[in-house]
Amino acid sequence: MTEIDSTLFEEKVLQGGKVVVDFYSTECPPCEALAPKFEAMAGLYGDKISFYKIFRQENRALAEQLGVRSSPTLLFFENGVQTTEPISGGIKKSDIIARLDAMLTPDEVASIKCRQKPLFSEYDVAILGGGPAGLTAGIYLGQAKINTVLIDSALPGGYMGITHQISNYPGFEKPQPGFMLAHYMSEQAKQSGIDFKVAVDITSVDLRKKEIVIDGLETIRAKKIIIATGTSPNPMNVPGEKEYKGKGLSYCATCDAKYFVDKDVAVIGGGNSAVEEALFITRFAKKVTIIHRSEKFRANEIAIEQALAHPKIEVLFGHRPKGFVRKEDKMETMIENVKTGETRPLLTDGVFVFIGLKPNVEVFGSHLPESDDWGYILTDDEMRTNLPDIYAVGDVVSKKFRQITTAVADGTIAAISVSKEL
Ligand code: NDP
Repeated sequence: MTEIDSTLFEEKVLQGGKVVVDFYSTECPPCEALAPKFEAMAGLYGDKISFYKIFRQENRALAEQLGVRSSPTLLFFENGVQTTEPISGGIKKSDIIARLDAMLTPDEVASIKCRQKPLFSEYDVAILGGGPAGLTAGIYLGQAKINTVLIDSALPGGYMGITHQISNYPGFEKPQPGFMLAHYMSEQAKQSGIDFKVAVDITSVDLRKKEIVIDGLETIRAKKIIIATGTSPNPMNVPGEKEYKGKGLSYCATCDAKYFVDKDVAVIGGGNSAVEEALFITRFAKKVTIIHRSEKFRANEIAIEQALAHPKIEVLFGHRPKGFVRKEDKMETMIENVKTGETRPLLTDGVFVFIGLKPNVEVFGSHLPESDDWGYILTDDEMRTNLPDIYAVGDVVSKKFRQITTAVADGTIAAISVSKEL
């Protein structure tokens, strides 16, 4: 795997036969999560396909020419032509493998699969998810000398890692960038002695057998499992949403706001995330239009005051998005006035979406712990679910307040409870 810049693009990529290119940025958690997967793929497929990385911030013209609008983005070429749709954002290892396999003959694919050997390991506790709840459980279990593994499909930090600034986590006088808080917590968890298996694909989880398969070939068995899988962004369910995800629609201001210097941006949503991230985006963009379906924000009062007073922020209360269309290098958001039903287009250079979250429970298939009406897992006051030896902590749990501090508390309670039982 080699790093190149735009001067080598013609020679290495367009004339390079079968090639994969990773456009990455700094301060981009999904880019960091992709890096070890990309490197592992280069090790496996490297004699048939060339792997290159290009730093998007320093090769902006090339990125724009290729339609790269989100970091990271993977492009697949064969003899100078893109063979498949690019993939971007939180890229799964299985999605990369499917595209790489499609570039090779069945015999070549079979010979690569033969080189991969199945692995097996056993632990006292497996923590699924490395946000503040999972990391805190890890710190306590590691310090209690309990054989523990923490598994995450991304890098540790969860939602905290992509939050621009956190001003209400105790112990810090000044607001902390989310990725720094994530860094401190994950280093503390590592130093406690637990194993980390992060930026992996979680292939399956069997909560009855307490067995987790990662990357399709490594089986992890544990006596107890702590579910700390958190939440994912809600879908808007409007036309253009899937099509333009990562190609004009972004879900991570930390990753993508820097590409909108002196540009017009729309932000959709009216909670803490939308209002706080809109304020962050004003550092780059010349104008930020917040589109919010209600007449009032539901963020913290300080952020609301700052947003309403900000000269770069305009707010369209009582409007919701009905669909997205790309118009050359701009995004057209069709917005509807909720009261009158009138629709009109809003043209901006990019759109950021922050409309809340849903619990990450799909990986458990049909054998789920008991949940509330919204799919959040029900627990007792020691974070036990209704399934034997299965605990749940953090945002995935049914509760009233989802904050880093409440997630940290859940992780603490579960770890102490588990330690006493083992
Ligand atoms: P929230 O659930 O708080 O807000 C979601 C927003 O999106 C609401 O304003 C909602 O509108 C709007 N919305 C929901 N569905 C749609 C839709 N289909 N179309 C258009 N708009 C829609 O989510 P957040 O991600 O902002 O926050 C999640 C949690 O994380 C909250 O508890 C929040 O307090 C916390 N948080 C805390 C931070 C901090 O402490 N600094 C920073 C960021 C988040 P409506 O209001 O009309 O329902």
